[in-house]
Amino acid sequence: MLVDSFGRVATDLRVSVTDRCNLRCTYCMPPEGLAWIPGDELLSAAELVRVVRLAVDQGVQEVRFTGGEPLVRPDLEEIVAGVAALPDPPSLSLTTNGIGLTTRAQSLKDAGLTRINVSLDTLDAGRFRTLTRRDRLTDVLDGIVAAQRAGLAPVKINTVLMRSINDDEVLGLVEWALEQGLVLRFIEQMPLDAHKSWSRAEMVQAHEILDQLEAAYTLRATRAPRGSEPAETWDVLGADGTARGTVGVIGSVTRPFCSACDRVRLTSDGQLRNCLFAQDETDLRAPLRAGASDDEVVALMQSCLAAKRAGHGIDDPTFLPPPRPMSAIGG
Ligand code: SAM
Repeated sequence: MLVDSFGRVATDLRVSVTDRCNLRCTYCMPPEGLAWIPGDELLSAAELVRVVRLAVDQGVQEVRFTGGEPLVRPDLEEIVAGVAALPDPPSLSLTTNGIGLTTRAQSLKDAGLTRINVSLDTLDAGRFRTLTRRDRLTDVLDGIVAAQRAGLAPVKINTVLMRSINDDEVLGLVEWALEQGLVLRFIEQMPLDAHKSWSRAEMVQAHEILDQLEAAYTLRATRAPRGSEPAETWDVLGADGTARGTVGVIGSVTRPFCSACDRVRLTSDGQLRNCLFAQDETDLRAPLRAGASDDEVVALMQSCLAAKRAGHGIDDPTFLPPPRPMSAIGG
């Protein structure tokens, strides 16, 4: 079991397959990109599948592939299929910006993917271009449709709200998501940007988002208990009292869910992290490549988890953002 000193058990593994991205979101990385991890330092498909197999043996039940942008990795289907072929396969999902789904949603579904989260912060083409420094909104929207057609369900949309940038789109995004049958979740911006310019004062807080939603809609809290699920979710009720769909808010900063956290993260270069905000990583790549046995790798995984802190500590006066940005850790 992957358990920490507070008794939390890791059952949800986030696997970053690359640190590279085909967008340059202003809040994530600079226009020129970052110093990418050299190709030979990335875990191969076989190495990734081996680590996931060991994690599953230790009780992991959910695996989410992320990045960087996971779709820039041409062997993503091979990785998904390798994990799906494990004796007791975990549930498999993907977090993506959606670019490339038009051609790959079906092959990913066929490989064993079941669910997908697409990140989208605006429905305005000009604003999308400014925010991501790429003119790809149509590709993202087409990718979302392709994911739905391929039968990936649910398709969730993740939106980071930023003051004076896209916080006027709350209701427009909700209406669009309800019409398209998508589950939209608004996410508080976290101190994870490459340029370390995050400011708590500037952050759009969960309660502000909820205030906007409550002013416009009749909401009913979904019955599922929050547990380790980061999103608080509500059914949006129509005039006749039936649910039109579901909307969520992820208040990672102001409503942290650390006490119920069941996550562990593997970076694309084979470092295990017990928290998104951890300062330390446990190197699995070197031992994997030096011929470590399964038991030896598992022992490293267990000691990594054992050192997990109680919380992300963003509110601590001594808080330091992690040494690597979100794109290199895996969002
Ligand atoms: N490229 C993929 C994507 O776009 O979904 C996966 C990686 S991306 C880093 C994952 C998510 O993290 C995206 O929804 C992105 O908007 C979000 N993100 C990036 N920086 C963030 C920050 N500082 N705070 C909160 N979310 C952030």
